[in-house]
Amino acid sequence: MVEVAKVRTPGSGALFQLLRDGRPRTRADLAAETGQARSTIAGRIDALIASGLVAPAGEASSTGGRPPTTFAFDPAFRVVLGVDLGATHARLAVTDLSSRVLATLGAPLSIADGPHAVLDWVVEAGLKLLHDAGREPAELVGVGVGLPGPVEHRTGHPNNPPIMPGWDDADVPGLLGSRFSAPVLVDNDVNIMALGEHRAAWPDVRDLLFVKVGTGIGAGIIADGLLMRGAQGAAGDLGHVALPGAEDVPCRCGNLGCLEAVASAQAVADHLRAAGARTRHGADVVELVRAGDVSAAQAVRQAGRDIGAVLAACVSLLNPSTIVIGGVLAEAGEHLVAGIREVVYRRSLPLATQYLRIVTARTGAEAAVLGASAMAIDDVLSPAAVEARLGA
Ligand SMILES: [Zn+2]
Repeated sequence: MVEVAKVRTPGSGALFQLLRDGRPRTRADLAAETGQARSTIAGRIDALIASGLVAPAGEASSTGGRPPTTFAFDPAFRVVLGVDLGATHARLAVTDLSSRVLATLGAPLSIADGPHAVLDWVVEAGLKLLHDAGREPAELVGVGVGLPGPVEHRTGHPNNPPIMPGWDDADVPGLLGSRFSAPVLVDNDVNIMALGEHRAAWPDVRDLLFVKVGTGIGAGIIADGLLMRGAQGAAGDLGHVALPGAEDVPCRCGNLGCLEAVASAQAVADHLRAAGARTRHGADVVELVRAGDVSAAQAVRQAGRDIGAVLAACVSLLNPSTIVIGGVLAEAGEHLVAGIREVVYRRSLPLATQYLRIVTARTGAEAAVLGASAMAIDDVLSPAAVEARLGA
C-alpha cells in the first residue's frame, strides 16, 4: 500500500457508509446526496482513497467536456476471517469486505478440548486459509467468531456455556486478537446464523426472526435491519421459555417444561427412540422422515406446533415480516414449518400475520460463517473505525 500523509477528516466515515453499497458515484453525486459542498466532498474522498477503502472506478458519462471520475468502495482492499465453532465441527472462511468468500475450510473439532487447544487450532487454520486466499496476515483487519453457547456481548467472553467445558469467561477476543493482530468480535452461533441468513438471503427484509432448531432451540432477532442482542447478549434464548402443558418434562437447564426439552431435534430423537426407533441425534430423525417414516414426520410436525406456540407470542411482541427456520430439524422437509405455521397463524392477530412469511433457511451450513464475517466487516467499516483508520 502506498503510504500517504494521513489527515484526520471528520465526516469521512459517514460519507463512506453511502459508498458501501458498491455503486460508483461522482463527487457531484455525493454532494447532491449529502447536501455537502463539493470542496468538502473532495477532501473526504481524497482521504478515503489514501486509506485504500475507496478507489477511482472509471468515468461517468458526460454531456460535454471532460467526463467526471467516479469513485467506489474497494472491498478487495482487505480481508476478514469468519469462524464458526460448533460442538463437534469448525468452519472458517476468509472473505473480502463485501463478504465474498475467498477461501473456506471445514473440519471436525471438539469444543470440549477447551479454549487454548481450540483457539490455537483456529490461529493455525486461519493463517493457512489466508495463505490459500493469496493474502498476507497483515491484510487481515477483523475476525468474527461464533460459539455454541451464551456470550456476553460487551466482553466477548462465553458465559456459563453448558456444552463448552473450560470456556466460562475465557478471553476469546484477547487470545485470538494478540495472535492475529486484528480486532476480534464474538457472539453466539444463533446470532451469527441470523446475521448470515439475513445478509445473504433476505437483505431487504427489515424485521426478521431466525429460529435454529438443533440440539437446542434459539433465535436471532433482526429488528429494523439490526441484530438485537438485549442488555447482556441473551436476547432470543427461546429454548428455555416455558411451553404450556409441558410442566412435567425436565430440561437440562434444571427447569421443567422448557420448549427445547420438548421440541428440539434432540428431544424429537429421544422421543422416537423411546418408541423403538433408532434415532440417536436430530440427523437420524431427518433421515427417517426422508425415508417416508410416518411417525417421524408426525413427531416433527408436533415439534413445529410446540415451537409455534412460543413463536406466536414472539410475533405479537416483535411483528416480524419473515420468520426463517434453520438448524438440523428444518432439513426434515416441510413438516416442521407446516406445524409452526398451523399454530402461529391461528394464534396471532390478523394484522401481524397478514404479510408474515414462515420459511426454511436458504444459506444452510454457510449461514454461521457468513454471519461471523459480516459481524467483523460491520465493525471494520463502521463510521468510527473508518475515521480511526484515516486518522491513524
Ligand atoms: Zn430449560
